[in-house]
Formats: sequence, structure tokens, C-alpha cells
Amino acid sequence: MPRFYDTHAHLDFPNFKNDLDSIIQRASANGIERIITIGVDQESSGSALQLAEKYPSVYAAVGWHPCYVMDAPEDVRDDLRKLAQHPKVVALGETGIDQHHLPSEKEGMTEQDDAVYLEKQKSIFQQHLEVASELKLNCVIHQRDAFDITINLLQAFSKDVRGVFHCFVGTPDQQKIIQQMGSMVSFTGIVTFKNAIEVREALQATPMDQWMLETDCPYLAPVPYRGKRCEPAYVLNMAQYLAEFLDVSIEEIAEATCANAERFFQFDRQI
Ligand SMILES: [Zn+2]
Repeated sequence: MPRFYDTHAHLDFPNFKNDLDSIIQRASANGIERIITIGVDQESSGSALQLAEKYPSVYAAVGWHPCYVMDAPEDVRDDLRKLAQHPKVVALGETGIDQHHLPSEKEGMTEQDDAVYLEKQKSIFQQHLEVASELKLNCVIHQRDAFDITINLLQAFSKDVRGVFHCFVGTPDQQKIIQQMGSMVSFTGIVTFKNAIEVREALQATPMDQWMLETDCPYLAPVPYRGKRCEPAYVLNMAQYLAEFLDVSIEEIAEATCANAERFFQFDRQI
């Protein structure tokens, strides 16, 4: 049976509270050998570590999601270093820049607040990159409506740190820029959505050794589960869909995406 990794899941989210054992079992029944659960703040990063301790197939990334940075202290570097001491931490993140929703969309907030928000996102992202370079880890990157800013910040560290632009929905040109920096992209269930023609074009233009599979569960369930709660087992549905779309065997997708993940994530850290 082909084997897969779900390189981006949020297993600590309340959506999975009641049936996580069966979710892990269903994933394994579908050949999903490894799941990386991604922290979005201090607490969720701690929970990611607990899940990684409980389930042999689960690994963790620790970090602060850009949408939650206003809750983060000014300096998160020591906390990141401590969390990353755990041998099942395979990357830092998710971190990055998200300018899709701005504070000024809310009553009583101004452009001044938007500027503060952006500065905090930049500072926290940069701190992740610093610690990643120190610990020789890569970063899981969340980027929305801020491609150039994200690239510029990553560029300064691109000698030591690679990023995976998770839930990639960009253009073939953007994929090339990412690849030139030694970084990668990963695709979610969006690739199976009927209207996601441009995302599939980007995937088609991405060399087989440059992309990974992820669910971003509980979000973005692929067809035929679109709109329902997503779970790691559905990586298999994505792979089946993509094998047909790319006209390659499912084994080829399994081998390439797992090999890419093994080069990117530190699954065998000696601490
Ligand atoms: Zn995520």
C-alpha cells in the first residue's frame, strides 16, 4: 500500500477532542504513516508536544501563527528554544505574515493598529527564523496577502533556513521564487475543489521533488468530503485525485511527497 504523510494538521483543535484515537487509526488504515501537528500559539504548541508523545505516528511543529501574534510576548525566542528541545519537534511554525484581515476592519481600530499588527508579525516571524537557524530546523510558513514581505524576510535567512509555504495557492512564478530560495510548497484539499483551476496549474508546474501533501485539518476537506470536518486520512483522497490529474501512479506521488518531507522535516533528531 502506498504511504503518505500529512505534513500539516491541527490535531489539538477542539474539533478532534472526542474521537482522536479513531482519527489516528483511520489515518493509519489509509497509509498515512506520519502526521505533523502544528502549533499556533504557546498553548497549542505545548498540546502538539503532548500529542506527539502519546501517538508514535504524530510529530510536532511549534510556533506562533501570524494571526495570533498580538497575544504573543515581544520576545518568543526562549520559549521556542525550550519547546524545540523535544525530539519530536520536526520544524518551527506555523509562522509568517497574514495581511488578509486587518485590525482596521473592526470598529474603533485605525491604520495605526494595522501598522502595529504588521510590525509584530514581522518581528515574531523573524524570531522564528533566528531560532530555526540556530537549531538547524526549517519553518512552516503561513502567508496570506503578503507574499513579497514574507519572501524578503525569509531571504535574509535562506542560507540556513528553508520554509514550506503551506496551503499554497499562489502562481507558478511564485512557486519558482520559493524554489530558488531552496524552500518548498505544500498543497491542501483545495487542489480537489472544482473552481481551483489556478491552484492545479501551479501544482502541475511544480517539479515532483518540490511539493508535499497536507490536510490543514480540521479545515479544507478534499472532495468528496468538502465542507465537512477534515482529517489526516483524507490525504489518500487527495493523492488519488492528483494521480489521475497528473497522470502518474499513486505510488509515484507517495514516494515523491514522502521523500520531500523527509528532506524538509527533521524526523530523526538526536537531542
Ligand atoms: Zn495551519
